[in-house]
Amino acid sequence: MLHSQAKIVATLGPASGDRATIEALVRAGADVFRLNFSHGSYEDHRARYATVRAVEAELGRPLGVLLDLQGPKLRIGTFAAGPVTLQEGAEFRLDLQSDGPGDATHVQLPHPQIFAALAPGVELLLDDGRIRLQVLRCSADQAHTRVVNGGLLSDRKGVNVPGVVLPLSALTDKDRADLDFGLSLGVDWVALSFVQRAEDIAEVRAIAQGRAAIVAKLEKPAAIDALESILAVTDAVMVARGDLGVEMPAEQVPAIQKRIVRACRRRGLPVIVATQMLESMVSAPVPTRAEASDVATAIYDGADAVMLSAESASGRYPRESVAMMARIIAQTEADPHYRDALDASHTPAGANSADAIGSAARSVAGLLDVAAMVAYTSSGASALRIARERPRAPILGMTPSLATARRLALAWGVYPVHCADVASVAEMTQLAQQTAVAQGLAQPGQTLVIAAGLPFGTSGTTNLLHIAQAL
Ligand code: PGA
Ligand code: MN
Repeated sequence: MLHSQAKIVATLGPASGDRATIEALVRAGADVFRLNFSHGSYEDHRARYATVRAVEAELGRPLGVLLDLQGPKLRIGTFAAGPVTLQEGAEFRLDLQSDGPGDATHVQLPHPQIFAALAPGVELLLDDGRIRLQVLRCSADQAHTRVVNGGLLSDRKGVNVPGVVLPLSALTDKDRADLDFGLSLGVDWVALSFVQRAEDIAEVRAIAQGRAAIVAKLEKPAAIDALESILAVTDAVMVARGDLGVEMPAEQVPAIQKRIVRACRRRGLPVIVATQMLESMVSAPVPTRAEASDVATAIYDGADAVMLSAESASGRYPRESVAMMARIIAQTEADPHYRDALDASHTPAGANSADAIGSAARSVAGLLDVAAMVAYTSSGASALRIARERPRAPILGMTPSLATARRLALAWGVYPVHCADVASVAEMTQLAQQTAVAQGLAQPGQTLVIAAGLPFGTSGTTNLLHIAQAL
């Protein structure tokens, strides 16, 4: 049966919030839906969330919902008379306090933390990097800059300060309110934007209290420098190439993307590759050849998921974008070289019982003709340890926790199923033997490798490996 291993995250927006479209996106292959809190009202998000859950119930398939927090996106103030043109070589001043709207010589930048972190020579990037300013002189409330790359600048455009770790919390007041709202809805994942250090993750974790798992969006050079310490504390990662490509030279993004994917695979952390994957499908029914190749590259590298942003949120072809992504994934996974590429990039498992079980499951599958791997899991950890091994066979993620089933929708190769609680290994085995067949992952008599943790219901105890035949 057709079962893609990599997953698709589709951002919802005005082009895709209605019931028929969300259902069409799921049927086309979307596994996780992103609610982007940089845009839209609470009412929009509440309605989209409810629609995803209604479609999930109708199709009987766990779907993940990912709340994406805007984070500390810095913005300039406004201009008195519409957009201004900054001339290359001219001086331009940034003021902490506003003495009225700006003009071609100055504008407000209402973020004291930036001024505290500036120094002569530091570069500021405005409007997705289109405008580049270099600091000449600065104080606690003013910065005189030279225009390096000029152009048209309009109200409230974003500001990036690539080379500097800003003394900012990754959570703004808006983020805190959005997070409370999203947790009350019941989102499965929370994505944190502009993460700079491991402590940023701890802040969200303290608020989420286990109600949602955390995705660290890597889009700052500081986060790349602190990569291993961030990976040590997050639940998943997004390679957020949109802002990363503003904060760092575009030519460095491919190598960084591959490095992040490798590091996440080594740890068994789900990793999403995001932004501009099929960008031209915002307005065209087919992607460019380069975009098709970009999606395939992420799949060959073994990323857990690829993401659609404007393509599915506000473009003309949301369903076609998901369907195209699904076809690229299926074609790539069918290439014999895909398996070679995954095996070549496999790293040895860690010295702990969960990884040892995952690794043993992989070797069993290498010796026997295994139809499916089964993880009976309460926290999802057993399924992730098997996914870490990138086995050939599909992974049935059986869990009595609906929240876990929904989270596992993001994980490579995992086919999540919400199932009943079991009391014994015999009962669990029988449920696995039946569910594998019911879900179309195995024929009766075919071999299954089952992993679980005893005692049941205690997370982090993966310690059991069982070989059984599907019933
Ligand atoms: P965004 O994040 O779409 O929320 O900005 C993704 C990115 O920057 O790539
Ligand atoms: Mn971003």
